[in-house]
Amino acid sequence: MRKYIVLISFCISLFNIAPAQKNNFDVDKIKTDAIQNLQSKYEIYKTVALDIWKFAEVGYKEIKSSALLQQTLRDKGFTVQGGIAEIPTAFVATFGSGKPVIAILSEFDALPGLSQEAVPEKKSISGKDAGHACGHHLFGAASVAAGIEIKKLIEEKKFQGTIKVFGCPAEEGGSGKVYMVREGLFKDVDVVIHWHPDNENIVTMTSALANKSAKFRFKGLSAHAAASPEKGRSALDGVEAMNNMVNMMREHIPQETRIHYVITNGGRAPNVVPDFAEVYYYVRHPKKDDVKEIFERVVMAAKGAAMGTGTTVEYEIIGGTHDLLLNKTLGEVMQKNLERVGGVSYTPEEIEFGKKIQSTFTYKVPAIQTSMAIVPLKTIPDAGGGSTDVGDVSYGVPTVGMGSATWVPGTPAHSWQAVACGGTDIGIKGLMVAAKTMTLTAIDLFTNPSLIAKATEEFKKAKGDYKYEPLLGNRKPALNYRD
Ligand SMILES: [Zn+2]
Repeated sequence: MRKYIVLISFCISLFNIAPAQKNNFDVDKIKTDAIQNLQSKYEIYKTVALDIWKFAEVGYKEIKSSALLQQTLRDKGFTVQGGIAEIPTAFVATFGSGKPVIAILSEFDALPGLSQEAVPEKKSISGKDAGHACGHHLFGAASVAAGIEIKKLIEEKKFQGTIKVFGCPAEEGGSGKVYMVREGLFKDVDVVIHWHPDNENIVTMTSALANKSAKFRFKGLSAHAAASPEKGRSALDGVEAMNNMVNMMREHIPQETRIHYVITNGGRAPNVVPDFAEVYYYVRHPKKDDVKEIFERVVMAAKGAAMGTGTTVEYEIIGGTHDLLLNKTLGEVMQKNLERVGGVSYTPEEIEFGKKIQSTFTYKVPAIQTSMAIVPLKTIPDAGGGSTDVGDVSYGVPTVGMGSATWVPGTPAHSWQAVACGGTDIGIKGLMVAAKTMTLTAIDLFTNPSLIAKATEEFKKAKGDYKYEPLLGNRKPALNYRD
């Protein structure tokens, strides 16, 4: 009996080893070829990325950028559906059939007020307001590149399944993906892969802050500010009283909270009591439930301010995003692939450009050579410096992401220096690192179903019994939030 068991287990292990070895060999070759093939398309994706960099279209206005990415995918045989989730610039491109379904996210919106030439000193492009200070032009192009590479492998029958590229507009405050999640567009997806431009090469295992934003609109009564002020009620007073109350509140809320605001309308002339004023608020915290609670206190401050100043207030939810659910199983897979691809190395001219950029910072910056390094994998839940609408995706599907050095080390996002780097080969080299790493990660998922099973199990455990509910409620996409 014992002999049989040994014999059976020996046969089983033989059976297991043999295909696995063959598979490993094939996967390795598939990966090497994919890296080479993507590299050979450098100029093509550079053109796509730099075209979007030049368009520099802000959230929900990314008409040309979205059209270019859609066309690039269509030309390669993807079926593209545009205008999804009631957003004209959102799209999904699909190739293949059956399981697994792997999706790659792409973004392409720019930021207002950050127009900048591709030069290492502050110089805006004349006649242009927006700039790609978060590198979403690279984001879009790299994700499309990875999608096309995977499509090629499915077509060549290297493996089976479906690849989807999601075109996700208005990440910067517009919560574009939330509407796509709400619409159920990720329902059949097994794993979502994404990335983000960065100043280092890192797999994203730090969560993000949940975020709820709104515009508070105060209405008062106009009057001559000197001749008959008693006849007026200042809407700006309402805004200022609200801001004072919220600023006092800061002492009495959990300290990980971040609240910021800008007065988007404070009246037009000092001698007119403003009858309209508007303030735009973000409320952030690592936990979505705390965000909901603190946001309600901000609303109470607005109502109190209106009452005290004899004005009225209404508010419109603009955006709302979840924190990011991390997936260690997928993070480890992506880390290995990022290490295989390697970081970004610069030419002497790029080093000169990069050092000029670094000299504009007032703080100590990492050595320029760190662009070549890969940050070791480290999981940090319940934290994050920013927010992302990928958070909502991560509550529906196991999700993994990374950052690559598209900006010289030390460069913060949302800076003119980020726009400048993104307009040069420094940015494009980072794009290639991301495209290759995402492709390799997708190859692992297509060729090793047990990885998806393990990631799904981890995802289910992390999500628990939470039933997804968008923080922005049932509002329609805020298509004019940049107006
Ligand atoms: Zn961004």
